[in-house]
Amino acid sequence: MGDVVIIGAGFAGLEAARVLAKHRKALGGRRVIVVDAKRTFDFLPMLPDLIGGRILKDRVVVDVAEYLEKLRVSFENGTVVSIDTASREVRLEEGHLLSYEFLVVCCGSMTNFYGAEDMARRSLKLDTAEDAVKIQNTVATYPQKKYVIVGGGYTGLEIATNIAQGLRRRRTKKYEVHIVERQDDIVGGLPEGVRDYCRMNLCRLKVHVHTGVSLKTATDGKLALSNGLEIDDYLLIWTAGVQTPECVRKMPQGKDAQGRLKVEKSLRFADGAFAAGDAAGFLRNKRPLRMAVQFSLNEGRLAASNIVRLCRGKKRLASYKPVDLGYLVPMANRCACGFVLFFPVRGFVAWMLHYVMCIYRSLTWRHRLGIVRDMFLR
Ligand SMILES: Cc1cc2nc3c(=O)[nH]c(=O)nc-3n(C[C@H](O)[C@H](O)[C@H](O)COP(=O)(O)OP(=O)(O)OC[C@H]3O[C@@H](n4cnc5c(N)ncnc54)[C@H](O)[C@@H]3O)c2cc1C
Repeated sequence: MGDVVIIGAGFAGLEAARVLAKHRKALGGRRVIVVDAKRTFDFLPMLPDLIGGRILKDRVVVDVAEYLEKLRVSFENGTVVSIDTASREVRLEEGHLLSYEFLVVCCGSMTNFYGAEDMARRSLKLDTAEDAVKIQNTVATYPQKKYVIVGGGYTGLEIATNIAQGLRRRRTKKYEVHIVERQDDIVGGLPEGVRDYCRMNLCRLKVHVHTGVSLKTATDGKLALSNGLEIDDYLLIWTAGVQTPECVRKMPQGKDAQGRLKVEKSLRFADGAFAAGDAAGFLRNKRPLRMAVQFSLNEGRLAASNIVRLCRGKKRLASYKPVDLGYLVPMANRCACGFVLFFPVRGFVAWMLHYVMCIYRSLTWRHRLGIVRDMFLR
C-alpha cells in the first residue's frame, strides 16, 4: 500500500486534501502528502486588491502547514521537477523522491512570457501574494511612473484599476496607467455588453486602453508599442498569458495549448493519477473549461472522491459534470460586471457578489472576518 500525493496546495489541492482527510478510514492507512513549492496558500482572486492597498496581505495568505496539521495531512515544502507515472514517482528539486499509489496533480498555472526572456526580466507578474506586494511597493515608491499592463484580460483589468484607484486614493494628481492588448478588444470572448461596460469604467478611471496593439520593444529607458507610441519611465506588468508549471509541461501525456493535462471524465490521466484545477484540461462541449476557482474546487473534490472509491475497491469512477455559476470582472472602483446564474449583473451589486464569493471561499473564519473588515468597514 502506497501514499496519496497531492501536488499543489492551491484551491484544488487543499480541497482534495480536505475530502481525503474526511474519508481517512476508507484510505486504510495510506498517508496523504501535499507538496507545494511555497509555504503559503495565496487567495489569488484578491491579489489585485492587495496591489491597490485595500486589504492587508494577512487576509489572503494562509500557512499551509498549519492548515494541513488540523486535517492531520502531511506537508512537504519543495518544488516538483518531474512526475513519472510509469514508476509512480514524483521528484523534488532537491533530488528527494516521493513514491505514490495515487496522485493528484493540482499545481495550477503561472505567467507565460512565451519564451521572451528579455520581457520576463523587465516585467513584474502576478502569480503570488509576494508578486502583489512587490507591485504594491513599487507603486507606492514611484507613483510618477507610467504603468503599462500587457494583456487586457480579467487580471490585466483588475491590476490596472487597482493601481489607478490606489493612486487616486493617495491623491496623486497625475498618473498614467496603460493597458496594451493585442486583440481587437479587452476581455475578448466575453459578450459585447460586458466589454462595453469595462471600457467605460476604465475610461472613468483614466486608464488608457490600446487595443489591436502589441509591445514592440522595451529597453531600460523606453518602451515602444506597435501603434508608434513610446513610453518612457515605465513599469511593465505582464498578464498576457498563462501556462502550467514545467513539471506538467514536460510530461509525455497529452496536453492542450496551455499545457493543461488532457483528462478523462473522471479527471484521471494515467493509472492512479488524476489532475484538477488549472492543471487539468477538462473539455466541455469540446472546449477546455475556464481557469476559475469554482471548477478547481469541484475538480479537487471529485478527484479525491474517485481515489476514495478506488481504495474501497470500486471499479466505476464518478464523472465530472461541470456547472458554471458564472463569472464577474471586478474593478477597483466598486464596479463589476458579468453573468451570475445566466443573469447579467453589473455595478455595485456585481462587485459585492464577487467579494461575497471571496469571503465564502476563504479558508478560515479569521480570513473571512479580516476581508469583511478591510473591504467594507475601513
Ligand atoms: C490575479 C488572479 C486573479 C484571479 N481572479 C479570479 C476570480 O476572481 N475568480 C475565479 O474564479 N478565478 C480567478 N483566478 C483564477 C483562479 O485563481 C485559478 O483558477 C485557481 O487558483 C486555480 O486553482 P488551482 O488549485 O488549480 O491552482 P492554484 O490555486 O494556483 O495553486 C497551485 C499551487 O501549486 C503550487 N505549485 C506550482 N508549481 C509547483 C511545483 N512545480 N511544485 C510544487 N508546487 C507547485 C503553487 O505554489 C500553488 O500553491 C484568478 C487568478 C489570478 C492569478
